[in-house]
Amino acid sequence: MKRLFNRSYFFDQGIHFECQQCGVCCTGDPGIIYVGKEEVSRIAEYLSVQVSFFIEKYLYPIKKGYSIREHADGRCFFYENRCTIYPVRPNQCKTFPFWFANLRSAKKWKRLSKECPGIGCGPLYSKEQILELIQSNMDAVVKSHLTNNDILNG
Ligand code: SF4
Repeated sequence: MKRLFNRSYFFDQGIHFECQQCGVCCTGDPGIIYVGKEEVSRIAEYLSVQVSFFIEKYLYPIKKGYSIREHADGRCFFYENRCTIYPVRPNQCKTFPFWFANLRSAKKWKRLSKECPGIGCGPLYSKEQILELIQSNMDAVVKSHLTNNDILNG
């Protein structure tokens, strides 16, 4: 990680961002929404349901972990004009748009900026904060590859 901090990026001066909760990234093309072990328990608790019920109704297995189900049109199961689990949304959603895949080139970021109205608004995220968010997102994806049994058995 130290090596990453010492390098120079197109976002060295930071990036302004504030989610406008428009839902663009929660709808549209289908995608994987990884949910880690602690996140499964946290969201189930927020919804006041049993973990096993939550998994069966809202998640599907992917690799060795789980992803949130989507409607046929690609809309996240928890998006109803707004995110209905916003305070406990998965790390993957919390760290968007600061994902490695989005920040790997200025061109990719520019393209995303046209879709996400939060980019350019709100507080300034420093290069260090952005790199930490990228790392946190990557860690969460790795963690979510726990076996399904690990999650079900707590
Ligand atoms: S597209 Fe951007 S502004 Fe809209 S919900 Fe997603 S992160 Fe927030």
